[in-house]
Amino acid sequence: MSLRKLAAGNWKMNGRMPQLAEAMALAGAHPSPTVDVLLCPPATLLAPMAQAMLGSAVAVGGQDCHAAVKGAHTGDISAEMLVDAGASYVILGHSERRADHGETSAMVAAKVQAAWAAGLIAVVCVGETETQRDAGETLAVIGAQLAGSLPEGASAQNTVVAYEPVWAIGTGRTPTPEQIAEVHAFLRDKAPDAGIRLLYGGSVNPGNAATIFALANVEGALVGGASLKAEDFGQIIAAL
Ligand code: PGA
Repeated sequence: MSLRKLAAGNWKMNGRMPQLAEAMALAGAHPSPTVDVLLCPPATLLAPMAQAMLGSAVAVGGQDCHAAVKGAHTGDISAEMLVDAGASYVILGHSERRADHGETSAMVAAKVQAAWAAGLIAVVCVGETETQRDAGETLAVIGAQLAGSLPEGASAQNTVVAYEPVWAIGTGRTPTPEQIAEVHAFLRDKAPDAGIRLLYGGSVNPGNAATIFALANVEGALVGGASLKAEDFGQIIAAL
């Protein structure tokens, strides 16, 4: 089965109003991409970016949401609020949130439920640390994260899974093609719906994108640093 590819950019805690120009340059350079293109800016830029992307082929997404619909949760944002701001996707369970905010897979699963209820597509992240890889635990860790983070009902329509080895994020180091292929074959086997797209993330750049995208069971990328510049992200999109 050939699944439609997805290039997703995760701006993390980067970008202020002037950087909207990069999103506009990206939309202008790829008026009708043959792949899905997604940008996930910080929450402060969601609404203005969604406005700027109106009528373009670039979708906009959040980087997290709360599991509750509303209430006394100072500083948090609900999935419905992301939709209000113009989001159609939300990244959930990123390793930086698992590490910085103690998010467990059970907490991620609750957020995924909230995202689905609001009509968002959840981009659910899994990945091992270097210590876990060295201990030969990679597939066990990823299998447990996947099973724990995906509630009943995950489908190609509401879920994307991103494999992001923690040691490859922002480090310039990437797994070998064989290592990526091994994990993606495992995820394809374990994912509850064969149509769920599988992204690779971790130091993807214009130079290594084509090699990674040529691998079986890789339907795109979740890109951090290289998504901040329209030119770099454009080259990655072109490699898909
Ligand atoms: P990176 O980040 O591309 O900067 O390594 C990827 C991610 O964390 O999503």
